[in-house]
Amino acid sequence: MVVVMAPEATDADIAHVVEKVEGVGGSAFVSKGLVRTIIGLVGDIDSFHGLNLRTLPGVADVHRISDPFKLVSRQHHADRSTVWVGPRGHQVPIGPDTFTFIAGPCAVESEQQTLEAVEMAKAAGASIMRGGAFKPRTSPYAFQGLGVRGLEILAGVREATGLPVVTEVVDARDVPVVAEHADMLQIGTRNMANFGLLQAAGDAGKPVLLKRGMTATIEEWLMAAEYIAQRGNLDVVLCERGIRTFEPATRNTLDISAVPVVQAKSHLPIIVDPSHAGGLRELVVPLSRAAVAVGADGVIVDVHPNPEDALCDGPQALFGSDLRSLAQAMRQLPPVLGRHDAGAKVRTTA
Ligand code: PEP
Ligand code: MN
Repeated sequence: MVVVMAPEATDADIAHVVEKVEGVGGSAFVSKGLVRTIIGLVGDIDSFHGLNLRTLPGVADVHRISDPFKLVSRQHHADRSTVWVGPRGHQVPIGPDTFTFIAGPCAVESEQQTLEAVEMAKAAGASIMRGGAFKPRTSPYAFQGLGVRGLEILAGVREATGLPVVTEVVDARDVPVVAEHADMLQIGTRNMANFGLLQAAGDAGKPVLLKRGMTATIEEWLMAAEYIAQRGNLDVVLCERGIRTFEPATRNTLDISAVPVVQAKSHLPIIVDPSHAGGLRELVVPLSRAAVAVGADGVIVDVHPNPEDALCDGPQALFGSDLRSLAQAMRQLPPVLGRHDAGAKVRTTA
């Protein structure tokens, strides 16, 4: 941390800052310039925050040098992490050596629709299935999901297909029941900063897929991940799903540069959701290709057996022909970037 003193700061002001810092066990290194003095602080940053340095006489500014997040930062954990998803004996990796293709319906509507969608996904090469039982809809009049019945359908389809399940939890009270049925808990864009939900998900004992808030900076997103990590759960995968910009041609703007930026700052895996980013099926294949090329650790894609009948997000669900193009891209492109198909790297040890 660096404290910048105002030009009119007195020697007594500087000495006061030094005394405060040393009072909490830190060290202060004073560097006097012609006009201004800066003071470099070394020690426990959290105790410096408690000093309210910005309010001391003669202090013009305070700058943080290290990242505000710790457990998820690469500054403290240089190697990128792999998160394993699935029951013991069938765990699919999401991490730096593999590329993980996740697909399934936006929402669980019925047993048959979910099974058909996941079978399509599996045939296209997906190794984890998605599907929402609790849907966080913008309108309270829109289909809200089947709730616990949807979770039961997902568990049944996992039984039938063998694919681990990721599904969203929107309310902290539902975390136990979702964790009981799913292999990975999804926190959606609308709940990224719901800190009580993040903590509850962190306590659930299952990996968490944390989507980026639609108006969140990368730092805010990583701080949200820190809430989960702080509960002792480092099995967190980040998901870039597009952010709000002034551009109306797409549902959101896929911030593709977030992928390498996050990978430089955090050891956590990061995947891309081209379906919710673009909001249109014709964008899903090109954005998925971009995700592979930029170095993402996977993609999560909406598929539906009859997109025209979908109760949620039909315009972005892939038709069979698009799914064939996606399957081809997911097979051919990751190896070019030195990545193995996650489905071929399943951990079968108990
Ligand atoms: C979803 O994945 O079903 C979803 C609602 O996504 P997001 O939170 O990114 O809008
Ligand atoms: Mn959706």
